[in-house]
Amino acid sequence: MDGYSALLERARAQLPEVRTGGERFQVPEPVVATDGKTTVIRNFQDITTVLRREPEQVIGYLAKELGCPGVLDLPRGVLKSRIAKDAIAQRIREYTEKYVICSECKRPDTHLTKEGRLTILVCEACGAQRPVTMRRVVTPEKPKAPVVVGEVYRLTIEDVGRRGDGVAKKEGFVIFVTGANQRGMSINAKITKVLGNNAYAIVQP
Ligand SMILES: [Zn+2]
Repeated sequence: MDGYSALLERARAQLPEVRTGGERFQVPEPVVATDGKTTVIRNFQDITTVLRREPEQVIGYLAKELGCPGVLDLPRGVLKSRIAKDAIAQRIREYTEKYVICSECKRPDTHLTKEGRLTILVCEACGAQRPVTMRRVVTPEKPKAPVVVGEVYRLTIEDVGRRGDGVAKKEGFVIFVTGANQRGMSINAKITKVLGNNAYAIVQP
């Protein structure tokens, strides 16, 4: 009987699948499209959601490892070079091993936390902790503004600023809309100015 238990134990230990709460942990294969010297990972946000890591950090890692600039255009990730899908998939697997999977219990239920200058991978399943080396990541280029001056966009006012301007967001970009002072209203807004991470717009009739 002991022999059998040991055998079972060994067989369990060799199971390649990582399970989380009975669900299989499966990082989606990257869906990649290349266009000239640009490579778009169309399901980038899905991947980072499964990994439970910041998209900024993951695109930074890919950019560094693949030696090209990387930017976010959520839900897509964009690499400014022509990169084969397999190379991207390989780097994502490496990232997962280094920054997501617990080396003790092999589960993916982990998070990163800072302790002074160290970054620690903390396992929520078994409590194990290990330091991870965070390569100095090249700051990804600022994402391009998702709006263009002169164009009209359908926006939802999420907040109202102190001066009575409406505040809307598009892909994380903040747009101040003059003439829209009611939270929750949907409006057409014409972009008048793009400045840094903000844009300014006026309500269209
Ligand atoms: Zn663990």
